[in-house]
Parts: sequence; C-alpha cells; structure tokens
Amino acid sequence: MENSDTRVLVTGGAGFIGSALTHLIIASRSWTCTVVDKLTYAANPASLNDLKTHENFSFVHADICDAAAMADVFESVQPDIVFHLAAESHVDRSITGARTFLDTNILGTFQLLEAARAWLSGRPAVIQDAFRFVHVSTDEVYGSLGAEGLFTETTAFDPSSPYSASKAASDHLCKAWQRTYGFPVLISNCSNNYGPRQFPEKLIPLTLLNAIENKPISVYGDGKNIRDWLFVNDHAKALITIAERGTPGETYNVGGGNEWTNIDVVNAICERVSSATDGQDRKHLIQFVRDRPGHDRRYAIDATKLQTQLGWAPEEVFETGLDRTVDWYLANESWWRSIRDGTYSGRRLGLISSVA
Ligand code: NAD
Repeated sequence: MENSDTRVLVTGGAGFIGSALTHLIIASRSWTCTVVDKLTYAANPASLNDLKTHENFSFVHADICDAAAMADVFESVQPDIVFHLAAESHVDRSITGARTFLDTNILGTFQLLEAARAWLSGRPAVIQDAFRFVHVSTDEVYGSLGAEGLFTETTAFDPSSPYSASKAASDHLCKAWQRTYGFPVLISNCSNNYGPRQFPEKLIPLTLLNAIENKPISVYGDGKNIRDWLFVNDHAKALITIAERGTPGETYNVGGGNEWTNIDVVNAICERVSSATDGQDRKHLIQFVRDRPGHDRRYAIDATKLQTQLGWAPEEVFETGLDRTVDWYLANESWWRSIRDGTYSGRRLGLISSVA
C-alpha cells in the first residue's frame, strides 16, 4: 500500500496522537493526508502549523457526529485508509461530564462507520478490497490488572470509567460492523502514550509544566498505580503498520513494556526539569491527593501479536523518551503558554462532588 496515490483520512489529527501520526505520515510516506477535527479544547491547531503549506496535507474543520459533513468528507477525500482517533480522551473529564464522551466516542464512531460504509459501497471492488478503517482504542477497555499478568487481545472488556466504557462501546461497534457488513475495520488497543504536543491535563505534561512553573504537583492516591508507557511516535508507527499489514477484523494490542508507578514517573520528571533548568529541587512540590474514583490499579500490555505477526517493535525506551518530552516542552513554551493562561491552568478535575 506504499503508493503515492494513497489517500488517508485522520480524524482527531489536531490532537496529541493524531498530530504525531499526521507528521509521521507526511514525513515517511508519499500519501496525501486529510485531517478532520472539531477543534475541541484538547486540539491545538499549532500542532499542525508546520504542515499547513505541505502539498500532501489538508485540513477539514468538522464534527464526526455530523453525518452530512462526514458524507461530504468521504466524497471529497475518497480515502484508501481511515485512521480514526477523534475522541474525548480524558478520564477525569468523563467522570464529571460523561455526555460528550458518549456523543463523540460512541455516536461519532457510529456516524463515521456509516459514512465510510455508504461511500465505500458505491466504489469498485478493487477499491473496496484495499480499503482499511483503523479504529484507535485504548487498553483501558480491559479494566484493571492485579500485580501479575498482561492484557492480551482476548482479555474480556471490563471498563471502569465513563471514558473507557465509551471506548469499549466504540470497539464493539467496529467489531459488529466488520462481522455484520464485512466492513474492513482493524482495532488497536494501546497503553498510555507520552511525548510532545500532549494537552497538559494528563499526568506527564501536567506534572512537567507544574514542575517548570514551580507549582504544586498532585499525585492521586498512594501514587502506586502502574501504567505501561509508550512514546507517541512508536504508537504512530504501530498504526501505520496495522493499516499496511494487518488483517481486517483483527485487534492488535500496542504497548512499550515500560511499566512505571505514577510516583516514579513524577519523580523522574522532577529530576529532569531540575537538571535542565535551575538545578532547584522540584520534589517538594509533590502532594498526594484524594484518589480518582474508579482508578484502575495497573495496566500492562502483551504486544506479542503485533510484534510477531506484523513486525512492529517500539524504538524508544522510557528514560530517553522522557528526556525528549521534557526537552520539547522546555523548547516550545509558545505551544502551551496560551493553554496554561487560558483554556486549562491545571486545576483538579474528576472529583464527584454531586450528581449532575
Ligand atoms: P486528544 O484529546 O489529544 O485529541 C483528540 C482530538 O479529537 C482533538 O484534536 C479533538 O479536537 C478531536 N475531537 C474530539 N471530538 C471530536 C469530534 N466530535 N469530531 C472531530 N474531532 C473531535 O486525544 P489523544 O490522546 O490524541 O487520543 C487519540 C485517540 O487515541 C483517542 O481515540 C484515544 O481514545 C486513543 N488513545 C489514547 C491514548 C493516550 O495515552 N493518549 C492511549 C490509547 C488510545
């Protein structure tokens, strides 16, 4: 499929992972790439600024829940591959306001599947056979692990938060569209990502910016929750690999084998920010706060299927990936300053104080 006529559509391409994927596509393939994004609070158009004038790049400002807009997008783009990343993605926000998660993650995925299926049904067989729809999902659909074991592709879904429940529902829709309509969906379930251009509400960029600005750093509960961290570019490479070599109907787990407790991650960020800036201690900023409701204890991914069947392997280890991430945020204050001073200053989200 590495063909200069290939046209791809990336939903959510102004977000964290979508912008990394779009950059990788433009840099490593001769494909034309159209981003569709609603530009919610989590998007940063600056993440795509350097691609604006690239001849292979275009942008459509639209909501995936808008059936007519999605029909127009498929007619005009005529994609060979869809990478579906558009979503509401922050667990804490899903706890205090689940509705937009259900709208975008479930109904939006439904609208996109239907727009794609309607458009594809009128195309010649050769185009239908080559078409791929990559649905980008999370390991959070599997729930929480104890001290031992890994999530595999056959682990039963057991989501804990409104976010993970909405992603699990969207995964089920994709599987149903494959089985019922023969629609060529491939699903990826990936562990926690980190890297440049992540909205500073998630653990790593929020901790990093609070450390840079000498502000309190909150750690939920006892800080011993474990996440399996993957550098965002490794995830982007996995998605391209799945589109090019994966089998429709299959699910692929994506993970980096980098299990870290949250408190170890926070300490590592404090050390890096300190040595990259003024040498002053940042760990005194850490404060343990009330735990997130429904907080999953441990995530860890078995990515053997993706590695052995499709030949993907992560390239970045956590220590160097974290160095790169700290360096990027220090060098790109213009990317995050307006967020910190406007959209989101870092306040605590996701506590249940009353029933909405
Ligand atoms: P993000 O919040 O940074 O970006 C989401 C993007 O989707 C934003 O640009 C936003 O404007 C756009 N969007 C939201 N609602 C939309 C709508 N209705 N129509 C069109 N665009 C809309 O999210 P992310 O961290 O880049 O995650 C991307 C995808 O990867 C999500 O589906 C998420 O569930 C999945 N995922 C994320 C992680 C992670 O660690 N961040 C891990 C595994 C899977």
